[in-house]
Amino acid sequence: QAKIAGRNTIRFFDPELQSVIMTRLELEADLLRAMPLKEFLLYYQVQADDQGHITGAEVLIRWRHPRRGLVSPAVFIPLAEETGAIVEIGDWVMQMACETLRGWQQHPRMRQLQLAVNVSAVQFHQPDFTDKVCRLMARYGDIAGLLKLELTESVMLDSAEQVIQKIQILKNLGLRFSLDDFGTGYSSLAYLKRLPLDQLKIDQSFVRDITSDPSAAVIIQTIIGMAQNLGLEVIAEGLETKEQLALLMRYGCRHYQGYLLSKPLPIDAFETLFEQGALSLSLKQALI
Ligand code: C2E
Ligand code: MG
Ligand code: MG
Ligand code: MG
Repeated sequence: QAKIAGRNTIRFFDPELQSVIMTRLELEADLLRAMPLKEFLLYYQVQADDQGHITGAEVLIRWRHPRRGLVSPAVFIPLAEETGAIVEIGDWVMQMACETLRGWQQHPRMRQLQLAVNVSAVQFHQPDFTDKVCRLMARYGDIAGLLKLELTESVMLDSAEQVIQKIQILKNLGLRFSLDDFGTGYSSLAYLKRLPLDQLKIDQSFVRDITSDPSAAVIIQTIIGMAQNLGLEVIAEGLETKEQLALLMRYGCRHYQGYLLSKPLPIDAFETLFEQGALSLSLKQALI
């Protein structure tokens, strides 16, 4: 068939490619309707320290698609970035995180919990991004110190001056910043040193390989050493096994997130886990 079609003919009917394109167009169209139809929801994944204390959670979005079920953000966030829908989605996530934090302020123990929110580079680079966050902080009262914004190294593709300035404006309000998926991007050390960050988040690919791949272990040690020199906290993501935890602890990492502690949970389940203090026990067991 290919021979008959000849050399200069583009064949449109590669069924696999076509179904990929269809899915994509369909998802893009559905994505535009997802917000008014209230199809997004948030999961919360525990972040804990080396004492086994839950310090807070990362907020992770899910899309409850009418036909496809729960769609992963790994699938729809890139689409939302291309169409621009990410701005509205990001605004919603941030506002919901503020609602949650405000609710927790009524509880004597939950009021210290922090939330980490993922911010897309597209969202961060909107000219009114800082204004929007400032307005949210004014509206929600004293919660800025409990919010941590996770950026990825891709924000650095833009002018350093602007990125630094935006971060600084929000830091002055009390927000904190973490660099997500660290080690997978292109950030130069010179640039990194200038960013007013609070935390580096070691990418889960290094954590996954830490026990089997000596170079992953070396990279993690290097990141931790660098973070210490720059005065930054380090958190490891994607922690799944006690063996990984043991190595991370030995290397001096003091903050963790991953299935070993808990999968991302709906808010009720997260609150229950926190109230039962169930985590401390399992983490302590892991440390022995
Ligand atoms: P991320 O921010 O690096 O989040 C970590 C991802 O790893 C999450 O996937 C989480 O569920 C998963 N994970 C957590 N613990 C483990 C573990 O122990 N093992 C393994 N294998 N995976 C683990 P998720 O929820 O599918 O999110 C994927 C990505 O989508 C996130 O990566 C983040 O970049 C993006 N994302 C999620 N929510 C939002 C959001 O509200 N806004 C934006 N802009 N991006 C978001
Ligand atoms: Mg993240
Ligand atoms: Mg990450
Ligand atoms: Mg990631």
